[in-house]
Amino acid sequence: MVYSQDPQNQVDAVVLGAGFSGLYMLYRLREAGLSTRVFEAADGVGGVWYWNRYPGARCDSESVYYNYTFSEELFKEWSWSSRYPEQPEILRYLNYVADKFELKPDITFNTRVMSAVYDEASNRWQVETDTGETVSAKYFITGIGCISSANVPNIKGLNDFEGQAYHTGHWPHEKVDFTGKRVGVIGTGSSGIQSIPVIAKEAAHLTVFQRTPQYSVPAQNYTYTKEFVEEVKDNYSEIRRQMQETVAGLRFEFGEQSVLDDSPEVRRQKLQEGWEKGGWEILFTYNDLLANEEGNELVAAFIREKIQEIVDDPETANKLTPDHFYGTKRAIVDTDYFETYNRDNVRLVDVKASPIEAITPKGIRTEDNEYELDAIVFATGFDGMTGSLFKIDIRGKNGVTLKEKWENGAQTRTYLGLTTAGFPNMFMLTGPESPSVLGNMPATIEQHVEWVSDCINHLRENKVDIFEAESQAEEEWSAHCKELADATLYTKTDSWYTGANIAGKARGFPIYVGGYGAYREICDDVAANGYKGFSFK
Ligand code: NAP
Repeated sequence: MVYSQDPQNQVDAVVLGAGFSGLYMLYRLREAGLSTRVFEAADGVGGVWYWNRYPGARCDSESVYYNYTFSEELFKEWSWSSRYPEQPEILRYLNYVADKFELKPDITFNTRVMSAVYDEASNRWQVETDTGETVSAKYFITGIGCISSANVPNIKGLNDFEGQAYHTGHWPHEKVDFTGKRVGVIGTGSSGIQSIPVIAKEAAHLTVFQRTPQYSVPAQNYTYTKEFVEEVKDNYSEIRRQMQETVAGLRFEFGEQSVLDDSPEVRRQKLQEGWEKGGWEILFTYNDLLANEEGNELVAAFIREKIQEIVDDPETANKLTPDHFYGTKRAIVDTDYFETYNRDNVRLVDVKASPIEAITPKGIRTEDNEYELDAIVFATGFDGMTGSLFKIDIRGKNGVTLKEKWENGAQTRTYLGLTTAGFPNMFMLTGPESPSVLGNMPATIEQHVEWVSDCINHLRENKVDIFEAESQAEEEWSAHCKELADATLYTKTDSWYTGANIAGKARGFPIYVGGYGAYREICDDVAANGYKGFSFK
């Protein structure tokens, strides 16, 4: 590699991605006076909200918390329309933020970073893009999201299909019109469950190819009143404080009781109330839902009963009824998902019972049938947590790649989910072994960005050249994460959290499950104690 000597291409920091994390990171670094370049593969800001434009895409954390809180002015300027707004509104918000803080001039769009190599001689990161540009930076920061590397399963005949094929995570910008079409959706995770009811209303016929049935509870979405929005704005400081302290970066904690503490009648009443309130209510009703098999089963049984009540056809209802621990695959909230199976133009195909054999020119062939389709929607998810990091050739000391160090995901090792030994001056926003996807993402992102920018300010003030996680601290952190995860039910279910959704991917649970509030305290403590666990040169 020819290292960049061009002063134009020597910056203090390179940030990857212009989603929630990259935008705020750029803002903070610029405020601190660092020259910063942001590279973004898309032609606009938004990250996952740029790419995930499928019908019905919306957030499932309540919008008044699903936003930045670092700027009181911004918080009070923006008004959300509803509890769970659709993707276009969230993308408008992120564009509003980028424009308000004049972030776009420092973002290079339509450009993918291919490699980032740490040069030990100069102690700088050499970052190379797919447009042939090389930039040299002191700090290398990834803000590329945890679920941004689309998974299209390797099904025989994938390229033979003569109709249109889409992935929910790479949806076209123009409206896709399913009117009069026979559509097939593969996958019933959050993306499938959000898109299926909307596609069913438009298409002539919809076939859902389901491998694993999912628990889903109603979102109970509603339009916010002006009074509510004003009340939220008036409570800005309190909301920011609560979001920083709670287990998931929202305004509430888990309930104080075990599932087993309540009598069947009281438990039923609480779960019914949770169902009617919608969203995350049921998941947060008890303090041990995700750790107690017997308790989890009681809550899961409640949702299974609801599915059986909603779906008219008993055979379809049975196919839609899950048997894994509730919440161990990402909990889903929906609008009319199970009701959609009562429509005459919707059928459900169980591809666990009769697996997909091939995509054919005319549609999808399973072991026992062939389904003719005009369009196929792959709602088949992502190579989560490590997928996007491994797509970039990231090399630390001695030329070792991140993929090699982490043994292709079999040995993910980080300190605080922010850094990894052997990769000095590199930070991962919402990286593996941080709380990331188990919390309200904008809140967890703000904490990471603020910690990283405070850290960089500290390094600059103290003229530290090389900042690196110590192996011992990293070993302890990764062991701690594993120990916490193993004490939950998460690791007992196949999910994208564990890597089970990707053929051949190593299994693990590279997410900190100890709660966002507790994690923030740990990170603050590390900083307050002179960044213990890090070496400085
Ligand atoms: P996902 O949860 O991984 O779901 C993918 C679905 O595709 C699963 O039902 C999976 O079945 C199925 N699938 C994968 N490969 C298949 C194959 N070869 N044959 C048949 N079925 C196959 O992905 P997602 O729905 O895109 O959601 C991913 C994450 O993104 C969510 O968990 C959430 O964190 C986030 N998200 C959030 C929102 C929101 O509301 N804000 C919306 C969308 C996504 P198995 O279960 O058997 O693997």
